[in-house]
Amino acid sequence: MYTIIGAGIGGLTTALVFEKLNIKYQLFEKAKAPNALGAGIWLAPNALQVLEFVGVLDAVFKVGNVVNRITLSNQKLEPLADSSQLPAKEKYGFSTLAIHRAKLQLALIEALPKEKIHWNKAFQYFKQENDAVIITFTDGSQVESQYLIGADGIDSKVRAQLFPKSQIRYSGQTCWRGVMKSALPSEYKERGIEMWGKGIRFGLSQLSETETSWFAVQKSKAFQKDNTAVLKEKLTTYFKDFHPLVNQLISNTEIDNILRNDITDLKPIKHWQKGNVCLIGDAAHATTPNMGQGGAQAIEDGYYLGRMISENPNKNSFKDFQNKRYKRVNSIVMQSWFTGKIANMTAGYSIRNIIFSKVPKKLIDKNMYSVYDLKD
Ligand SMILES: Cc1cc2nc3c(=O)[nH]c(=O)nc-3n(C[C@H](O)[C@H](O)[C@H](O)COP(=O)(O)OP(=O)(O)OC[C@H]3O[C@@H](n4cnc5c(N)ncnc54)[C@H](O)[C@@H]3O)c2cc1C
Repeated sequence: MYTIIGAGIGGLTTALVFEKLNIKYQLFEKAKAPNALGAGIWLAPNALQVLEFVGVLDAVFKVGNVVNRITLSNQKLEPLADSSQLPAKEKYGFSTLAIHRAKLQLALIEALPKEKIHWNKAFQYFKQENDAVIITFTDGSQVESQYLIGADGIDSKVRAQLFPKSQIRYSGQTCWRGVMKSALPSEYKERGIEMWGKGIRFGLSQLSETETSWFAVQKSKAFQKDNTAVLKEKLTTYFKDFHPLVNQLISNTEIDNILRNDITDLKPIKHWQKGNVCLIGDAAHATTPNMGQGGAQAIEDGYYLGRMISENPNKNSFKDFQNKRYKRVNSIVMQSWFTGKIANMTAGYSIRNIIFSKVPKKLIDKNMYSVYDLKD
């Protein structure tokens, strides 16, 4: 029996893969019910290939919006790099999907047997004993399992116990994410856009006929709080020199639909597993959101972990899983960290824009497909 902690993107996908491959599991989540909050995320083709494998692709597409063109631009929406996603559609059958995180979570939950997800169960600590792991929850209850999988996100308690020296890094940037309760003008419907200015950037994409997601990133000290009475005014001032679409989005978003998070990641750790315990997703390798790959990599983890286990059912496959995934994931974490630094640079930002506008399309596409392709 595999016990999974955390019903986020990674834990739920792992459960779906286990379900498909007939691997015994149970899943425990600290929340009382699925989370209705959150904002939009992009699911790149590598994530969608896994969701197709587990049979939830149609359900997810039903509640998301297809992005067929991804544009990196300057603040006036003049492209620095413009990438059609149609070749991806030809290659995989789909391009990128923008979706509300809560809707994605619900679609994954609905595809799982209800009795295997235990809500309101917050993991507290584990004890490895011989070939078993005894797991204790904050309500005092315990379960015994052969294996434990920590899918409990960037602030993972499983990781804190397994690798107490692991460190969260603050990127020096904070992010506001908003969901406007209406669609974009039709010419932007299928576009994912990120505009880079001087020390600030803004991204957007439609999530459905009634929702559009946006994010705004700025350098900041950590742990700052907003005065919500003036937040929209503050943001519209920051972005006054950007394309008018930006401030239309901010102005038309209800203040309750704007979230703020500091951008952090996990300083890469040497191991994701020890004994009968393994970490996946953000618990193992949280990345900054600059490549839109954190959730996708959590999804890939579920796929490869399930495959490794089903190919060698009598063996502890956690080491094989780490060996398979470590290099790819860490290179994404590093690339994303540096992309964030470049995206929010202040000095030299106009030279940066000129350089980016000159990068050959072939190189951009090569890099993109190296991320989109699953490695067998
Ligand atoms: C601003 C921002 C934008 C992003 N955009 C994208 C994007 O466009 N595309 C993309 O692919 N990724 C994106 N990501 C990254 C993505 O959100 C994460 O990488 C992804 O959610 C990781 O999934 P996970 O399952 O590992 O963790 P999570 O989704 O965080 O899930 C962890 C789960 O564990 C539960 N949990 C925590 N502690 C306990 C406990 N003690 N006991 C039981 N349960 C517990 C939590 O309640 C939660 O349900 C973005 C992230 C941010 C911050």
